[in-house]
Amino acid sequence: MQLLTIAIDPSLDDSFAPEIAWTWRYLLTGAGYPWRTGVCNEPCDIAYTPDPRRAPHARIVIQAMPHHWERRTFLRLAGAGSADGFMYPMYAGEHGHDRLITHEAGRLIIHRDIVFDAFWLLTGQEEAHFPKNRHGHVDLAGTPYLEDQTLRKGLASGIGVRFEHLIGETGIPPGEPRWPHGKRAAAALSHDVDYPEVVRWLEPLRVVMRQGMRGLPAALDVLTGKRHHWQFDSWLALERTFDSPSVFYFVARQGSLREYALGTPDPFYDIRAPHFRRLFCTLIDAGCEIGLHSSYHAYASIEQFAREKRLLEAVAGVPVVGNRHHYWHLDPVNPEATLAIHEQLGFAYDASLTHDRYIGWRRGSSWPYFPLLQAERRELRTLQLPTGWMDSQLFLQHAANPGSPDEVLRALADQTAAQGGLLLVNVHDYVFDEVLFPGWSAAVRHLWEYLDTRGDFWMATPAAIAAHWRDRYQRLLAASVGFADTRTVAVSIVS
Ligand SMILES: [Zn+2]
Repeated sequence: MQLLTIAIDPSLDDSFAPEIAWTWRYLLTGAGYPWRTGVCNEPCDIAYTPDPRRAPHARIVIQAMPHHWERRTFLRLAGAGSADGFMYPMYAGEHGHDRLITHEAGRLIIHRDIVFDAFWLLTGQEEAHFPKNRHGHVDLAGTPYLEDQTLRKGLASGIGVRFEHLIGETGIPPGEPRWPHGKRAAAALSHDVDYPEVVRWLEPLRVVMRQGMRGLPAALDVLTGKRHHWQFDSWLALERTFDSPSVFYFVARQGSLREYALGTPDPFYDIRAPHFRRLFCTLIDAGCEIGLHSSYHAYASIEQFAREKRLLEAVAGVPVVGNRHHYWHLDPVNPEATLAIHEQLGFAYDASLTHDRYIGWRRGSSWPYFPLLQAERRELRTLQLPTGWMDSQLFLQHAANPGSPDEVLRALADQTAAQGGLLLVNVHDYVFDEVLFPGWSAAVRHLWEYLDTRGDFWMATPAAIAAHWRDRYQRLLAASVGFADTRTVAVSIVS
């Protein structure tokens, strides 16, 4: 492994050390390099300093902007409602970096604090300033995020890839590949299991609400039981075709219509029922992963959250390492508080940090990452696998997500490949019915055909992807000196 020497200007190190170290770990491990820390005025591969003159012997100098880091603190203290945090001014164009790079006396100088940029995006600094609905879903109407479809660009991992290329331009050999088997990117199919069983008198109304009067024949089929939502075999057949087993996230708390009406929209099934027990065996035999679809209010009670995980593990008979929240319902005020619970419950990964309505990467990263817990200024041990697309975004939220499904998804796959990232998609189990949900499962089939044709995507379950990413991360950390996060080091020793 190629070891890079990174020198951080002490003036920065003193003030924002945990945040800067965390961001450097994201960039360097993402690019596949272990590191050791050096001193600015001595020879080093990369120097991070407010004044490039302080690093005359560095191959690459990244010009730090301390006032941005100071502003971060201000924003955190200012809290929601301050207009000051709206749209950090770099993101008008993704090619802006090129004009900000100069070559001086054998050094490559980046006159922009791309470390802060990555930090800003990955920690969602702007989210506190956007309105939210009653589920805590961020409303991006009228922001450049929608106007430019910024979320589809993956700006933070884009910075990582650009950084990686610049390292290559200086003649440093490539870092450790992000993905195994010589693949360029990764893809995973996931299913939130919400309504595998229809309420026969209610579902026909939902069909008509979705499709209008032309949905009447299908609604009648649902009413009489000719059509149903139990589509697991259809998914397994499709996934066998591509040798691409998926994850099914199950809710382990049974809701009710009454609760639903009163504002707790948990699904109605009971995973303890015999047909669910048989289903778990079938899915596990097919190589699928069983994950938790934590209930609507699980974020508010670690005891309830833990009960759900334990019950699912007991009934399915396998460890549950992955989670996604029903309705993406994290703590609406402080999503990181929920991510911290994932860590306490020992999840290997979570896949919930996604916008409900908008396609793309909520925190700008198609690369998996260990989020920063800002309140404690440390890295979380539960990996975040960013979900890039949920089915309904293309079929029920068309105004916010323009474009034909096949074209949008191919572009998202191409962007993932360009960044060597992960394309994790979420398709509900029950939508595999061309009459009830025209075009929905076809979009998945076409996307997977496209990925298969490309041939450069590693297709695996999210659990396998998370295990790979964690192993690679810990290998790189173990070979590195400096930028330690004490908690991370402790984990790498015990696991
Ligand atoms: Zn759900």
